[in-house]
Amino acid sequence: MDKLGIVVPCYNEEEVFPLSEPALRGVLDDLVAKGKIAPDSFVMFVNDGSRDATWELIEAAHEAHPVQVYGVKLAGNVGHQYALTAGLLTAMNLCDVTVSIDADLQDDVKVIEEMIDKYHEGCDIVYGVRSDRATDSFFKRTTAQSFYRLMAGMGVKTVYNHADFRLMSKRAVEQFSKYQETNLFIRGIVPTLGYKTDSVYYQRLERAAGVSKYPLSKMLALAFNGISSFSIKPISLILGAGFVMILVAIAAAVYAIVSYCVGVTVPGWTSLMLSIWFIGGLQLLAIGLVGQYIGKIYIEVKHRPRYNIEKVLSDESGKN
Ligand code: UDP
Ligand code: MG
Repeated sequence: MDKLGIVVPCYNEEEVFPLSEPALRGVLDDLVAKGKIAPDSFVMFVNDGSRDATWELIEAAHEAHPVQVYGVKLAGNVGHQYALTAGLLTAMNLCDVTVSIDADLQDDVKVIEEMIDKYHEGCDIVYGVRSDRATDSFFKRTTAQSFYRLMAGMGVKTVYNHADFRLMSKRAVEQFSKYQETNLFIRGIVPTLGYKTDSVYYQRLERAAGVSKYPLSKMLALAFNGISSFSIKPISLILGAGFVMILVAIAAAVYAIVSYCVGVTVPGWTSLMLSIWFIGGLQLLAIGLVGQYIGKIYIEVKHRPRYNIEKVLSDESGKN
């Protein structure tokens, strides 16, 4: 029987913790009773440098339920993406399959069972996808949707309306752990792992208690990080603009020279016009070109795994 580890990053969640802790243990009890996961499956709460009583609550919960409740205390606040990674990489060695979920119960804990069913059907990654955003404010909804569109436009593979509520098998987390980059955007990395994936759909609920720990500034930072960590398209756009400028310069040169020949120009205008357009175009082209190299360096220093071998068939298989 496979052992499940539910990973929950928590930052100042003392209000919602007393609700989510029993809810998630309830999910474990239910799945164990149905024989879908091992009895020693656990929920791992990762305290992301909370300044309130979150860690004390985690400690108390672990004391009351040492088998079911695990805790990880980060030394300071590092942000949701790193806190989640810390939890996943710690849980990876302790269980066979992980589910990551926010502490605020906005994601429907009932679909964890569906995720586990898909895992048993052979999926390594199962995304939790919001079927609608009716409970989000108009502002949150539109900004979030523009974000997904922009990401797609920039060539970053993400799953539409999926945040970080997902199931990952042990080997998927192991492959994820090879992505050593500091500018971490987990949602962009997971779809590049390969493996058999599927989605489950749910209605996103209101936060059960407390307030959002993701203000607009953090959302914008996440969006920019998402694009700049995965795409060097903005640099290519500059290079493209440089080419366009050179074409415009040629057209402007024809216009300026014709005007000069017809004699409708004041002295100095033609040479000025030609210099402005050509120098502008040349500069943009040069910046774009230098940018291409910087982009390549950027991709190289990330040292991402270049492939992920899922299976090898050879006559050695089955031996040893
Ligand atoms: N979180 C975290 N560190 C942070 C900010 C948030 O671990 O610096 C956690 C938070 O406790 C929650 C999850 O990330 O479990 C998502 O945050 P929140 O629900 O506030 O974001 P929203 O749903 O409003 O976008
Ligand atoms: Mg939330």
